[in-house]
This record gives sequence, structure tokens and C-alpha cells, in this order.
Amino acid sequence: MTTTGYRSSLARTLMFALLYAAAVYAGRRTAMVADGVTLIWPAAGVAVVWFCAHRDAPTRRLDTVLLVVILGVGNWRTGAPWDVSVVAGFVGLIQVSLFQWALHRWRPNLWGAGGHEPLRSPRDLWVLFAVTVFTCVGTHLASMLGRVLVTGSLPVAVSAMALARHVASILIIGAAGIHLGARLSRWRDGPPLRRPSFWRAAEIGGIFALSIAGHLGAFAYEHGLPLSFALLGLTVLAGTRLRTPWVLLHNAVISTIAVQCTLSDRGPFAQVPDVGQRAVIVQLFDILVALVGLALALGRDERVTLLTALDEEKTALDTQKNLLTAVIDSMADGLAVIGADGRVTLRNPAVTELLGGCRSPDDALAGSDWYGLYHVDGTRYADEELAYLRALTGEDVRGVDMLVRNPAVPEGRVVRVTATALPHPDGTHSAVVLFHDVTAERRHRDELTSFAGVVAHDLLNPLASVEGWTAATLDALDGVPDHPCLDQAHADLARLTRASARMRGLIDGLLAYATAREAAVAASPVDLTEVVADIAQARADAAVAAGKPEPRFTIAELPPVQADPVLVRQLVDNLVGNAIKYTAPGVVPRLVITAATTGEMVTVRIVDNGIGIPEGQHDAIFGNFHRAHAGSAYAGTGLGLAICKRIVERHGGDISAADDPGGGSCFTFSLPAAAAAHPRLAPV
Ligand code: ADP
Repeated sequence: MTTTGYRSSLARTLMFALLYAAAVYAGRRTAMVADGVTLIWPAAGVAVVWFCAHRDAPTRRLDTVLLVVILGVGNWRTGAPWDVSVVAGFVGLIQVSLFQWALHRWRPNLWGAGGHEPLRSPRDLWVLFAVTVFTCVGTHLASMLGRVLVTGSLPVAVSAMALARHVASILIIGAAGIHLGARLSRWRDGPPLRRPSFWRAAEIGGIFALSIAGHLGAFAYEHGLPLSFALLGLTVLAGTRLRTPWVLLHNAVISTIAVQCTLSDRGPFAQVPDVGQRAVIVQLFDILVALVGLALALGRDERVTLLTALDEEKTALDTQKNLLTAVIDSMADGLAVIGADGRVTLRNPAVTELLGGCRSPDDALAGSDWYGLYHVDGTRYADEELAYLRALTGEDVRGVDMLVRNPAVPEGRVVRVTATALPHPDGTHSAVVLFHDVTAERRHRDELTSFAGVVAHDLLNPLASVEGWTAATLDALDGVPDHPCLDQAHADLARLTRASARMRGLIDGLLAYATAREAAVAASPVDLTEVVADIAQARADAAVAAGKPEPRFTIAELPPVQADPVLVRQLVDNLVGNAIKYTAPGVVPRLVITAATTGEMVTVRIVDNGIGIPEGQHDAIFGNFHRAHAGSAYAGTGLGLAICKRIVERHGGDISAADDPGGGSCFTFSLPAAAAAHPRLAPV
């Protein structure tokens, strides 16, 4: 704690102590003029604000001592017996302590209770009211106990009156202190306060003038009419039109007028003959004015805050919406949201463009004939096959190719459609449909495939000639007598033979790739166990013939699949061949082949004990010409897995690669089960 901090805390302590002494004196004065009955007790409210402001101040102990002393001495010096005054001093301390404890427990966010918030809503007010009543009841139980101990008598009427004046005091002065204290502490480090406009200032002044005149009229003039009920209307006017700080001021002014007039035997409450009852009534009037005015003002403040927040949120949402609309509208891909009733709730311009400008009337989706939709093989699209309908039934439609052919696009456009269901909070669904134009991509791919096929075929002939002439030259060399250049010629021809073999491997790969793309799928039940066993035997024989370690196979019972037998053989042979090839030198290749049926698909796993796939390349190896172990001792073209992927996809299945926990790799692919009635063949 710095000296400056302590000094300013001490200065505040002295200021509050003076204020408190004045409040005690003012309260006791009302007792002097009203036959010993204390009519008001502003000291309770001042003490609460004092201790709230000094909740964590370094002069807390001094505050406590000063409060007890001022209250005790104040009572004694104004006529109370010394023993009652001592009790009063300690009861005052109990009151502030109880108030602080209860407020901290129920509203710790409020200023003075541990937080920094002002009163913000009617709920805050009701909690403050409950805390006030709780505090005052607790304090007066303590006070009564003290009085009984000191005087031996229990003045019930005085206690009821004291309860009312303490509640009124804390509610009016305490609420104002907490609210303004919070605003003040924020104002110091927050933005500067805005000055009200001329008309607003005029309205505030007008309401104050009207209310003061009305209350003076009802209290200060002797007309004998019980007009106090009508005064609540003025409080309601102030509460509905003024902000909380103004209402707090209004409450204080009105309460002062009511108390002062009643003290000087004027106004409607002065007609009550019993001074004690009169005091209770005027306090109840003050409490009512405070509660009504504050509840209305806080409700209004809360509404204004909520409306401002709502407005800001709406503006932010509008900005975001405009941004999203701009992004969606500028997309080259088409995006549409279609409701369960077939109505298009959102569609960007690209959708209309991709569908050749076809737009159904009234935003209700039309049948596939309207748009001219076909399968890629040229057959008509049935209405129930439309992607959005499939998405609405829960199916995840991914990358289905669709041919759009209508008068606007007579040459046809291939669009890849993806659709997913979008659930709404009310339990209904919409479908989000994405359209991506793949015409150019497809054409390019088809051209490339046929080019690869043609090139591969055309290359085979000259290659066969090269191989033939190489063999012939080798034969011819056998008859040549020893010559210094003969060894060199043999070595060169061996290199030529190896290069030709590599070239043939590449051409075979290209041809297989083109075939895997082009050939029609002739699906029939295939005994997978038999195919795998056959391939395993052939591979084992080839390894023995080549003088390499013989691979060991563990083959489980594999369910039959519905697939093209030639393509399935090519698929399994590629995978088994890779598993044997990518094994460390000298290691006996071990393969475990298992399968499981899931729904309509059979999933096959081929696990090896090979060298594994380098990190991050598990997907890339399925791309054309991708070699993960390029440059190493393993020969290849990088086409085998691309062919496998194509074969599997053409049967509607998936293929993937993963690391096997045992050290090698694990390739998994799925094909339609033989029992499945309709194998999902992807359109080509
Ligand atoms: P390649 O003709 O090079 O074998 P593939 O398309 O069959 O071409 O395989 C692509 C790449 O994937 C290979 O170059 C190799 O790096 C990796 N690969 C394929 N199968 C395996 C395997 N069983 N274990 C480790 N790596 C493999």
C-alpha cells in the first residue's frame, strides 16, 4: 500500500465520518421535535455506502471504530441514556456488517459487494430489497436483545418504526450510493459521460418541477384532501421517463419533502394522531416511492440495454449475412438449399448457370426432365434419384456425376453433385446441394486415357522390334571370334535389354491403367478365396524361380464378391505384388489376408511385414505415377495403386492404406458382396 493510497483512504474515511455524524444528528433531531420518536434515520444508508466504498480500504479498522464512536456519542449527546447509546453504537456496526455479508453472498457482482456493477435490472433491486429487509430484521433482533439486557423492557412499537425507517434509509441512500459509486468508479477510467440534449434536459427539468410541485401541493398546503395516492403517478412518470441516477435523485427529493412536511405537521400523513404510526406511514410511503420509481427505471434501463445489444447484434448479423451472400454469389460452384417440400430456399447464380439457365417457376423444384438431367452414360435420371431427395432420406451423396443436357447446353455438361442433409431445430431437414462443373476435367481425363492407350499400343510394336533385334544381335555375337570389343558389345546389349524390359513394364502399366478406366465392368460372383490362393501360389513360385525368399501367406476364409473377375485379379495381384516387393532385402515376406462383410460390402485387408509407407504419403500413393520410395532399389512405374483405386471405385468401393502396428503396411479395400442384389456400380 502506497502512502498516497493510504492518505486518500484516510481522507475518504474522514469525509464519510463527517457525513455520518451529520446524518446521525439529523436523525436524532427528528426525535427531538417529534416527542422522542426518531422519524428518519439517514445514518443507516450513509453507513452502508461508507462501508461499501471502503470494502477493501486500508483504513477499515478506523472506519469501524469511528462508526461505533460517532453513533454511540451521537445518541448520548442527543439525550439517549449512555448504556442505550453504547448498545446503539454496536448495533450500527452489526447492521453494516450484516448488509455487506448478505449483499456479497447474493449479488457479489455489485459495487461494494466485491464487484463493480451498478444496479442493472429490477432483479438487482429486489435482491437489494431482500438484503435490506434481512439486514434490518437481523439488526433489530440484536437491538431488541441489547435493549432488553440494558433496560429490561421491550418496546415493540418503537422497533417496528425503527425497522421501517432503516429499510427506507438503506433503500433510498444505499441504492443511490451503490449505483452512483459504480458509475463513478467507471467514469474515472471509462469513456466521458454524454451531455443530454437540450430537449432531454428540458424533459428532465420539467418532470422534476412537476413532481416537486405536485408533492409540495399535496404535503405543504392544508386542503384536507388525502391526495397522497395520486402522487405515485408522478413517481411512475419519473420512473418511466428518467434514467436510474435521475430517479434516485427524484426519490431522495420526494422523500425529503414527505418527511419534512410530516415533521412540521403538514400533509396527509400529519392527520394521523399517533406520532409513531405517522412515522411508520411516511416511511412506508418513502419505501413505496423508492421501489416503484427504481423498478420502473431499472426495467427501462434494462430494456434499453437489451435493445441496444440486439441492435448491435442485428447489425453484425446483417454484415455477416451480406458477406456470406457476396461470397456464395461469387462462387463458381453452384450451391442450393432445398427444403423437404421441394422449395429452393437458397440458390446462387452459379446453380442456374450450371443448369443451363433452367429455373423452375415459383422456386419449387421441377423434375429431372425440366432441367434435362441424365446419367453420364446417357440414360435418363429418374426423379427419385435426384441428389437432394436422397440427402433428405439421410443418404450422404458424394461426388455423383450427372449430365446436364438441354437447349441451352446441347453438347452436354457434366456436373459433380454432392448433397447432405441440413437438420433444423424444429426437427425438419433441408438438403444442401453443391454442383461442380467437371466437364473439362472429364474430357481431359478421357482424352488422356485414350491417348495413353493408343500410345502404349503404338509403342509396343517398335519395342518388340528393338527386343527382337537385340536378341538377334546377341545370337549373332555368339558366332563372332574373340575380339577386344566383344565384351563391351555384350555389356551394351545387356543394358539395351534391361532398358527395353523397363520400357515394356511401363507400357504394360499404361495399358492396364487405360483398360481399368475404359473397359466395361462385367460383374459376376467371384470366389475371392480361390483368386487370392491362386495369386499367392503364382507369386510364391515366381519368387522361388527368381532365387528370392519365398513369401508366406496366411489367408482367412474370404466371402465371395460381386465384381469383374479380371479386374479383381488385377487388383489383388497388384496389392500382393507390392507387399512382396516392398520388403527389406533378405526378409521373408509375410502376408495376412482377411475379410469381413459390412452391410452390402466386403472389406478385405492385406497386411504385410514390409518397409512401410513414408509418413504423410498414405493417400498420395494412389495418385498416377506417385512413387513413395522413388530412387531406391525398388523398381516400378507408380501406376499400380492408381489402377487399384480405379478398379475399386468402379465397383462402388473404397481403398486406403495405413501403417500396420506390427511394422509393415495394411491395405484395405471394399467390393460389393456377392449376395447384394444391386451392386453399386459407379457410372462411367
Ligand atoms: P510402383 O510401381 O512404384 O510399385 P504403385 O502405384 O504400385 O507403384 O505404388 C506406389 C508407391 O506406393 C510405391 O512406389 C511404394 O513407394 C508405395 N507402396 C505400395 N505398396 C506398398 C507396400 N506394400 N509397402 C510399402 N510401400 C508401398
